[in-house]
Amino acid sequence: MRTLDYTRATSPEQAISLMARNPATVYLAGGTTLLDLVKLDIMQPDHVVDVHTLGLNQIETLSDGRTRIGAMVTNTQLAHHPRIKSDYALLSQALLSGATTQLRNKATTAGNVMQRVRCNYFRDGVSACNKRTPGSGCAAIGGHNRSVHAVLGTSEQCIASHPSDMCVAMAAIGATVQVQGPSGKRDIDFLDFHLLPGSTPWKEHALEPNELITHITLNAPLAGSRSAYLKLRDRASYQFALASSAVILVLDGQVIREARIALGGVGTKPWRAEEAERLLRGAPASADRFAKAAAAAFKGAVPYAHNGYKVALGQQAIVHNLMTLSGGVA
Ligand code: SF4
Repeated sequence: MRTLDYTRATSPEQAISLMARNPATVYLAGGTTLLDLVKLDIMQPDHVVDVHTLGLNQIETLSDGRTRIGAMVTNTQLAHHPRIKSDYALLSQALLSGATTQLRNKATTAGNVMQRVRCNYFRDGVSACNKRTPGSGCAAIGGHNRSVHAVLGTSEQCIASHPSDMCVAMAAIGATVQVQGPSGKRDIDFLDFHLLPGSTPWKEHALEPNELITHITLNAPLAGSRSAYLKLRDRASYQFALASSAVILVLDGQVIREARIALGGVGTKPWRAEEAERLLRGAPASADRFAKAAAAAFKGAVPYAHNGYKVALGQQAIVHNLMTLSGGVA
């Protein structure tokens, strides 16, 4: 059995300083990913710093209309918060589609952002995996890659899909990640936070060493918008997305004034479909235009041996949400 030191942090500064003292220290939030990976021996920290007690558990409306979420707000708290349900419906829906009630009660906002991939070769601890053991290869590329592997943003080094639902909704809404580190505080645009695998798949996010996520601030909701999250998966609960879409739509009669689309299950990071949005802006809300936008979202997709179906499934996830939000136009 592996033994760990445990410290309950009393301030962000103390947590950061404990991290800086020992490279084998990690922050502990809800633990729903970390403890799994420690038990599997994929992560081997020798010190965990519990950051639950730092008071980062508030959801606040800012004077400019944005919503600031403390890093330790649980997925359950966030999904059921009145402001999130009314103004960011797609985020509430995305959260409630993830995991199980018990896991959502423990999982935190920052932990969800930081969750690791579900690639079976990453988690088995023995297969070639560039993310776990840099330079060892990628067993998924020539192996079984049907469900938790991507068709967008992949590289010759790694094709694992990003597992979060919450992050897909946040990518569509637009958000800022506030972090604190040894050199002070800074903001990271949500779309820049998760990194493409490229030639360094072990680098998953834009955090510098020892930085701590303190808040995520959502952009103000678009006036007159409606939104939805649709998750397509092998079974109806406790399952990761094969393909999902988060869509925000603002209509002016039957003309699309604004559209925001992000995809899950198909990309190596929460995937904003900006070309699809561009095709929708100012266009009539029609089935033909929705299909064109969905096709544009997958331009450049690279299917692998078992996941080619994700291109069509992901397009359907977009079209279905657009049809629903626009009242089922012909
Ligand atoms: Fe590892 Fe990524 Fe390949 Fe999976 S897809 S085996 S995580 S390198």
